[in-house]
Amino acid sequence: MQRALPEPFRFKSIERIHLPGREEREQALREAHYNMFALKARDVYIDLLTDSGTGALSKEQWAALMLGDESYAGADSFFRLKDSVKEMLGFDYIIPAHQGRAAENILIGSLVKPGDFIPINMPFDTTRAHMFNAQATPVNCVVDAAFQPELEQPFKGNVDLAKLEDALKTHGDRIPFIMVTVTNNSGGGQPVSLQNLRDVSAMARKYGKKLFLDAARMAENAFFIKEREAECANMSMAAILKAMMDTADGATISCKKDPMVNIGGLVVLRSEEDYMSLLPRVVLFEGFITYGGLAGRDLDALAVGLREMVDEEYMAHRLSQVRMLGDMLIEGGVPIIRPVGGHAIFIDAGQFFPHIPQKYFPADVLSIEIYREGAVRGVGLGALAFEDKDPVTGEKIMPKLELYRMAIARRTYSNSHMEYIAQTVVNVYKRRDSIRYGLKLTYEPPVPGITHFLARLEPFAL
Ligand SMILES: *Cc1c(COP(=O)(O)O)cnc(C)c1O
Repeated sequence: MQRALPEPFRFKSIERIHLPGREEREQALREAHYNMFALKARDVYIDLLTDSGTGALSKEQWAALMLGDESYAGADSFFRLKDSVKEMLGFDYIIPAHQGRAAENILIGSLVKPGDFIPINMPFDTTRAHMFNAQATPVNCVVDAAFQPELEQPFKGNVDLAKLEDALKTHGDRIPFIMVTVTNNSGGGQPVSLQNLRDVSAMARKYGKKLFLDAARMAENAFFIKEREAECANMSMAAILKAMMDTADGATISCKKDPMVNIGGLVVLRSEEDYMSLLPRVVLFEGFITYGGLAGRDLDALAVGLREMVDEEYMAHRLSQVRMLGDMLIEGGVPIIRPVGGHAIFIDAGQFFPHIPQKYFPADVLSIEIYREGAVRGVGLGALAFEDKDPVTGEKIMPKLELYRMAIARRTYSNSHMEYIAQTVVNVYKRRDSIRYGLKLTYEPPVPGITHFLARLEPFAL
């Protein structure tokens, strides 16, 4: 195992965390109906539920917060953000939104019609839910390697060009645009190569379609390109990021991820025409077009975060920390997706618990057991989150992967926290054969695609 790089930052302000006792954890689980989303944060010692909005701000970002211009329309903060987007990503038009899914609501809600199809490497859960909400269907075009957890390949987030072309030919006019998620979150945080983005872009042009990126983790993707794509080894991360963006007509961005803010989202666009067509929905759902549901100070913190995310020392540490956690788990025998992605470790829960049928939610059993063991909170991303129904027969379709995700917040946990997490998971792995229960739903929300957020669960012996 290679140790992680030492942290390229030091503490300036701290936040106390507490390890609850065994009895407290049991009670917390019961009160949460065994759903990690319903746990109180105070009952969690290490919180790996998501890396979304959970990172630490830099002192420069705290300073920028004080500069916020809270004018309703045309605030200075908006123009500082616009300049930052232009410099870092190259787009002329920006729409702030309160977070990533709000940006998705603006783009997908404005441009997608009922019955449409959207080719995408793999949609993130909220992206998928927004496509459903617009009565459209995502068409997964990710390379087959994405479904082989142990296969070591550098760009398992890539779009399979043959699948994409097939979708373009099959659905023709019913495709409003193509989307690519960088990195591919639902597939294990796996990167997309610059060459692949360029090829997808060329195909989009050939078929007269626009290409939008879901760019929440664009900086991690840029770093992976620098490490793994020979032609880009001598480019700076910032230049690679710009080159990635050059392939697209726009992007939706959850700024709670790589752009390093606690709240915020963006739609960025190249054409004025696209920009104009999205504005009505911004006013309807977010607020005026120069603040989009955010405070002026949030826009300023984001303008700084967009520049900080391409700090190569920061990103080298982040990725080495995630990789070290992955290596410690591999050494303990735990089946994880390889190679380790950017923001998280994904455990193959199907392989961890081969004796628990997928319909009884093994990934969520794993969530419960890891919390029970060490008050570490991750999240199941398997059948509970991604179960589909056949539109014709109504029969349940299980997702190909049954994963448990541990997402690492940015600039927040130390390398020694990683050791604690690994020990906790390995302890559960050692007693895996004695874990013999499944989960059933006692409450299921009536909206497809969001079950895991709101579900109530009950264990039953197998
Ligand atoms: C987090 C995320 C989103 C949704 O963003 P929110 O800020 O959580 O609303 C969309 N796509 C990807 C790839 C994400 O990681």
